[in-house]
Amino acid sequence: MKLNTKGLILKEQNIGEQDKLVTVLTADLGVVKAFVRGAKSVKSKKQSATGLLCYSNLSLYNGKDSYIIDEAECIEVFFGLRSDIEKLALAQYFAELGCELAPEHSNAEEYLRVVLNSLYMVSNSKKPDLQVKAITELRLLSLSGYMPNLVACERCGEFETEKMYFDIEHGLLYCENCANEDAPLELELNVVSAMRHIVFSKLERLYAFGLNDEQLRDLSYVTETYLKSKTERKYKTLDFYNSLRKI
Ligand SMILES: [Zn+2]
Repeated sequence: MKLNTKGLILKEQNIGEQDKLVTVLTADLGVVKAFVRGAKSVKSKKQSATGLLCYSNLSLYNGKDSYIIDEAECIEVFFGLRSDIEKLALAQYFAELGCELAPEHSNAEEYLRVVLNSLYMVSNSKKPDLQVKAITELRLLSLSGYMPNLVACERCGEFETEKMYFDIEHGLLYCENCANEDAPLELELNVVSAMRHIVFSKLERLYAFGLNDEQLRDLSYVTETYLKSKTERKYKTLDFYNSLRKI
């Protein structure tokens, strides 16, 4: 059966001399693996359109155990990422998050929209990179069943106090009157408000908030730490991005 869809290439692996296997995030099929035959041929239009971080029109055959890409045509390559190693590293981390968190073989439209919007924001420097990083981490986590409970203080129901405290392990929030040893991470209210925005806002408004540099560092720290805790793994692409930022 032949299918036409649009997909973002999250990963590519060489198979032998001529072929490769790509992992693709699509709206309607979720994350799928697909073979690209003859991809290494210089003349192949499929080669460029199935490169890492390309968003492409894809024509697929449903093979026995996986898909085969018959034709591919590039829609967007996020050109701004290709000349900046730090931005490229961050984009590769977003691709790894897509592989980790988006569902396989089922609808993943919002995941795709978040990752595409984030790539666009980073590629065109529309928002600070750390802001886009935090949005991508926390929104994808929320979509995939790890939404923290940020509605109010877990113990007394207070909506906001000047400082609030986050329990990373359980994804719970406490006000300053209910601070306890389970929630050691102190956050400014502005950072809590940004986390609430990322979790609850409509997609169209997702990137529409502002924080100063110090608050962005705190936000990025809490979303990254929460991500690692929930998914119980390390991310090579994140380590690489962070190593570049410290230089
Ligand atoms: Zn409280």
